[in-house]
Amino acid sequence: MSTETLTCSRCGSDRIIDDAKVEDRITADRRASLDVMIGYRKASMLQPEKPQRFPLAARICGSCGYTELYVVDPDRMWSASKKLTRKV
Ligand SMILES: [Zn+2]
Repeated sequence: MSTETLTCSRCGSDRIIDDAKVEDRITADRRASLDVMIGYRKASMLQPEKPQRFPLAARICGSCGYTELYVVDPDRMWSASKKLTRKV
């Protein structure tokens, strides 16, 4: 059996609220996901490159409130990161 029980890395509780969406409020009525970006450093006149954005999700402990952020699709981010490295 590979049933993984998530536990809080701070207090050890198993009361974990998984996959909470993290949003950034741009204006009072406009919101966007909170993202991490890669590729923004290479943008230039000669080599315009749009940064690639990857949304974050949160895992929150229902006992102590400790919150971890993680990338929703790490496989896709890793692949994108390797492609950027190869272009140098
Ligand atoms: Zn906790």
